[in-house]
Amino acid sequence: MLARLLLALAGVLLMTDPASAQRFVGNERPAWRLVIHGGAGVIQRDRLTPEQDAAIRAALDRALQAGSAVLERGGSALDAVEAAVQLLEDDPNFNAGRGAVFTYEGSIEHDAAIMDGRDRRAGAVTGSTHTRHPVTLARRVMENSPHVFLRGLGADQFSVEQGLEQVPNEYFHTPERRRQWEEFRARPSAEAFDIDLKYGTVGAVALDREGNVAAATSTGGLTGKRWGRIGDSPIIGAGTYADNRACAVSATGAGEFFIREGVAHEICARLRFTRDSAQQAADTVMAEMRALGGTGGVIVVTPGGDSIYSFNTPGMYRGQASPAGRSVAIYGDE
Ligand code: ASP
Repeated sequence: MLARLLLALAGVLLMTDPASAQRFVGNERPAWRLVIHGGAGVIQRDRLTPEQDAAIRAALDRALQAGSAVLERGGSALDAVEAAVQLLEDDPNFNAGRGAVFTYEGSIEHDAAIMDGRDRRAGAVTGSTHTRHPVTLARRVMENSPHVFLRGLGADQFSVEQGLEQVPNEYFHTPERRRQWEEFRARPSAEAFDIDLKYGTVGAVALDREGNVAAATSTGGLTGKRWGRIGDSPIIGAGTYADNRACAVSATGAGEFFIREGVAHEICARLRFTRDSAQQAADTVMAEMRALGGTGGVIVVTPGGDSIYSFNTPGMYRGQASPAGRSVAIYGDE
């Protein structure tokens, strides 16, 4: 009698969470996934020296290692995307953190966002100027403020109040970005952006062992940006989105078009409301954005374990990791 009661109780307990039981059916979903990007654009073999090529691959691999270490030990997707993006922010090869592009006036203003697929909490900043890791500032906005999006001086002030590491704006300056800025300013018409047609924004999306997804994006924006221009990266739904019901997305490219298309949210919506695979959803939305005149790329990971890239530029700095290993790539034909 007692044994029967215990059996019945065990049966009830085992059936109480059909959603999580379903997630692991057939053990098809990899234990965890991480995908990163370091920007898309006219990235071709003749445009990078062997040294630059090697340095970028090594930096991407370091970021993958940092995020993978979190996921491997059972940490959250949120922690993993933050860890990976911090590494890329520190690396001068990318347009984020140190090595970000110059504004029209010749300073650095960062944009960043982070989003948790569990409950769609999100945090973002635009025009932050002294925080070493803007992605971490975005996370503090999400976790320690009642808001989603802070700008400029207020974001800087919040960062200080949160005790985040502060650095002089010059810390973010690099000779290569200054050269690009000088070239930009010397042109007869300083109207057109993307001087090298190379976007160096960084981002990460991850799936953790619990089946949760998260996304993060960090950037300096576009060389010569002015009048307080804000790109897609920190705009929730444009350059960054995460929703456990669909996927996590981080974008890079001509921000104005990603905003108009609502790229990151649109990909998630297609996954929720159509029978598209992740690749189909991303390719379709990127094609629609391309039709508006924009170029760039996205990385996507789903709670089901799909991880994909989609880009309509010659190359995209990118990489992915799972328990099966890590890989990085730069050019379109890799
Ligand atoms: N999407 C970014 C922006 O428009 C630029 C980039 O991807 O590098 O601000």
